[in-house]
Amino acid sequence: MNKQKVYFKTFGCRTNVVDSQIMMSKLEDFDTTLDEFEADIVVINSCTVTNSADSTARSYINGLKKFDKNPRVIFTGCGVWTKGEGLFKENKIDALFGASEKENINTLLKNESRFFEAGDLNHIDNTIIENMIGKSRAFIKIQEGCDFRCSYCIIPYVRGNSRGYGEEKILEQIKLLASNGFGEFILTGTNLGSYGKGVEGKDGLAILLQKISQIKGVRRVRLGSVEPIQITPQFKELLDEPWMGKHLHIALQHTTKEMLNLMNRRNKLKSDLELFEFIASKNYALGTDFIVGHPGETEEIWQNAIENIKRFPLTHLHGFTYSKRDGTPSATMNGQVSGDIAKKRLAELTSIIDAKNYDFRASKGSLDILIETEKDGKFFGYDQFFNQIEVVSDADLVGDWISISDVQVENKINKAVF
Ligand code: SF4
Repeated sequence: MNKQKVYFKTFGCRTNVVDSQIMMSKLEDFDTTLDEFEADIVVINSCTVTNSADSTARSYINGLKKFDKNPRVIFTGCGVWTKGEGLFKENKIDALFGASEKENINTLLKNESRFFEAGDLNHIDNTIIENMIGKSRAFIKIQEGCDFRCSYCIIPYVRGNSRGYGEEKILEQIKLLASNGFGEFILTGTNLGSYGKGVEGKDGLAILLQKISQIKGVRRVRLGSVEPIQITPQFKELLDEPWMGKHLHIALQHTTKEMLNLMNRRNKLKSDLELFEFIASKNYALGTDFIVGHPGETEEIWQNAIENIKRFPLTHLHGFTYSKRDGTPSATMNGQVSGDIAKKRLAELTSIIDAKNYDFRASKGSLDILIETEKDGKFFGYDQFFNQIEVVSDADLVGDWISISDVQVENKINKAVF
């Protein structure tokens, strides 16, 4: 009998990307499809980090009702703890399960009735996956949850407290994917840098990275977002290693003392700047997260923030306008900033970092690129500095590692012929 087809719609961060891959790998009585229009069942792996994340998931769900196949709609991911109950009561979704239940997906989907399995926030997955369906790079979840309590953030309440995966399990996962042809590995987590930080003077993340680099087939290792205070001396010693991707994403969130305090952040402006200057001196591209328009961000503070951001050797930006999350301390703070002002500030910040990114790309020589996709006869991939490149070639380059020195630096992207 033809198996029902399941499509996974994944929103949010790389941790969700891994969770969807785990769910795909657990299907036995169902087939995964990468085409949402032929799906009998759509599993929505949701994100709830901002209001727009919630509304994006809701409008996607509304859109599914118009699909010819009228698929069953199953809701999972971080939105389970914020919007799940409402969507279930409104009959917008047919069933719901929490991230802790994902390895049970084959059994859950066989239950055709409406079910609500929220699960818990302490779960650690046991699954080792053989492949990353539809991906050329491998995302490896090494940590879950977060012990920080940034005053604007809902994540600790929907992902739970920080917990790390066993080193042996992580290495076994990478060995398997490397033996199946993956060469680039991106370590991910909710608060990735919390991994292996329990013992004074010992950095489990640095030790793990060294062990990963010794696995046959591992060519490049990248990291998801880390916190400035989590960059240890042991980690700094790895910066010159050839297998380290020459790009780090280190979350600042702001560049003024006042806002870092209001946001209950653990990082400090002075030490942040010293850290970024040190890492940039090692020929690294540097990205960051930055929230504009958080309550209390007066025009004076903003002008100060902009002056400070210009001093940072930044090349990449994940910029957000503040998004009020019910249940977080920031949601009831005074000094709310209007949406228009926040948007204007984000545009100002983005143009500064775009200019820095352009100058950085224009100053670089040989690029080491993994080609991931092809579109309209052009090939796309990322170099060691995590800058995207478009390559024209007669050969099929998808999945290939190529080195290029002669590039055309354009506004948003580099271009080359190979
Ligand atoms: S570090 Fe802060 S912003 Fe990041 S997930 Fe934890 S609480 Fe949220």
